[in-house]
Amino acid sequence: MKVIWPISELRQGDNLPGSIMVFSSLLSRNGFQSEVLPDDPATIISALKPGEPAVLAFSCATTTVARYLEVNRRVKAKRTVFSLFGGVHPTLFPEMIEEEGVDALCVGEGEGALIELLTNLSEGRSIDGIQNLHIKREGQVYKNPIRPLIEDLDSLPVPDHKIFERAIPRTLWRTLVVTGRGCPYRCSYCSNDPYRAIYRGKGRWLRRRSVDHVMEELGALKASRRYEFIRFVDDIFTLDQAWIEEFSEKYRRIGIPFGCLTRANYVKEPIVRCLAEAGCWSMSLGVEAANDRIRNEIFNREMTKDEIIRACEIIKKSGIKLGALNIVAAPDSTLKEDLETLEFNMRLKPDYCSVLMLQPYRGTAIYEFVRKRDLLEDDPINLSWAGVNLRSFIKYPTRIEKLKVENLHKLFALVVHWPWLKRFLGPLVRLPLTRFYYWFYRRMCNYQEYFIATPLKIGLRNIVKRSRLYSWIRG
Ligand code: SF4
Repeated sequence: MKVIWPISELRQGDNLPGSIMVFSSLLSRNGFQSEVLPDDPATIISALKPGEPAVLAFSCATTTVARYLEVNRRVKAKRTVFSLFGGVHPTLFPEMIEEEGVDALCVGEGEGALIELLTNLSEGRSIDGIQNLHIKREGQVYKNPIRPLIEDLDSLPVPDHKIFERAIPRTLWRTLVVTGRGCPYRCSYCSNDPYRAIYRGKGRWLRRRSVDHVMEELGALKASRRYEFIRFVDDIFTLDQAWIEEFSEKYRRIGIPFGCLTRANYVKEPIVRCLAEAGCWSMSLGVEAANDRIRNEIFNREMTKDEIIRACEIIKKSGIKLGALNIVAAPDSTLKEDLETLEFNMRLKPDYCSVLMLQPYRGTAIYEFVRKRDLLEDDPINLSWAGVNLRSFIKYPTRIEKLKVENLHKLFALVVHWPWLKRFLGPLVRLPLTRFYYWFYRRMCNYQEYFIATPLKIGLRNIVKRSRLYSWIRG
C-alpha cells in the first residue's frame, strides 16, 4: 500500500508541512512507502499504476482545500485510490466529508489513525471504526471519536526530511523543525484553541520533544550537508528556559544558522543571550496590532504594548535580527487603527516585518465573531493561497475604506523598511492599484526572507539557484 502526498507550491520548498516528515518516518517503520508529489493530477496519475492500491493523503489548510478537492477528483477519474483529507481545515470543519471524492477525513493528530487505516486497508479489514477518522462508504458517514493525545513525543520517530529532498532535489536548502505541540494561549484567529477544545479530557495539550530527540534530527540534517538554514516553527520556541539552555549548549556542534518564533512575554535576556550564542540569526514575534482594543479584545492576545517594546529591545540588543508579525483588516476596525500598527512598527524598528490580512477561518473564535455581527463579505472557504493576501473577506462601511486597508496591507512593510515613503501613503492607498501593489508586497516578502531573516550570503546564493537562468545553465 503506497501513500502519495500531493503538495501545492512544492517547487518553492518554503512552507513544507512538517507533519508529513513525521508520517513518512512512521510509515516506513511500519513497512509502508510514501512519496511527496506536486499537486499536479497528471504527475500523480503517472506515478500510479492502474489497479495499484494507494492512498492519496492531503494535508489541508482552508487555503488549499478547494485546489486539493479538484486534484483529487481528477486523479480519481483515472485511478482507483482511497482519498484521505487531514490537517487544520478538516479538523475544524469535518462537514467537508460530504464533498465529492472524499473517502475519509482525519480529525486532530493523525499518526495512529493513518497506520491503522493502512494496515486495515492492506489486510482487507473494516475501517469503519478507526478513531479520529470520519469515513464515507456507500453514502453512509461513520464518525468516530478522537483518541488520546500522544503524551510522549519522543515515542514518534525522528522526522524524515528525505521525503522532501527527493521531491525537490536541487533547490532545497533550508528546512523546518518542530520541537513541540500545543500553545497555552487562545488568540481568536488561531486554530490552537479550537484544537485544544476537541482534545479536552484527552491528555496534556502542551508537549515537547526532549532536546536529545531534536538533536538526533538536527544531526542528520547536518550530516546531509544540504541545509544552510533551519527554521524552528514552534509557536513559542522560548517557552521553557531550562529546555532552551540545554538546546543552546548542544546546538553549537550543529553550527547551521537558524530562526525561530516567540511571544513577547517569553522573551527574557538570559534566554535570548543563549540562543544568540548558539547561532540564532533571526527571531520573530507577534505584534499583531498596536491598538489595545484590537489586540486584546478582538484578537485576545493577552499582551501589553510595553511587553512588546521591552521584548523587541532585548532581541535587538542581542544582535539577533528582529521580525515583527502584524495583522491588519481586523473585523470592527478602521484604517486609523491599522495606521496605528504601522506607526508602532516604525517606532519598534524591526529588521523585517510581515503583515497578514485577517482572514476569519472556519472553526476559530473570530469566525464566530464576524458571523454573529454579519461582517462576513464572502465565505473564507473560497480563499485560495494567493487570495489570502490579496483581499479582505470582512465587510467595511464603504468600498473606498476597504480599498485603503487592502492597499495599506501591501505597502506596510515597504514603509516600515523605508520610513520616508510614509509621506506618499495617503494618496497611494486611495488608488485602485491593489494588484500592482501586491506585486511589490510579494517582492518585499522575498527580499526580507532571503536577505534579512536569513544571512545575506546564504540568501543571495539560493535566490540565484532558484532563478530560471541558473536552471537553464545547469540544464
Ligand atoms: S500565541 Fe500563537 S500559537 Fe498561541 S494561540 Fe496565539 S497565535 Fe496561536
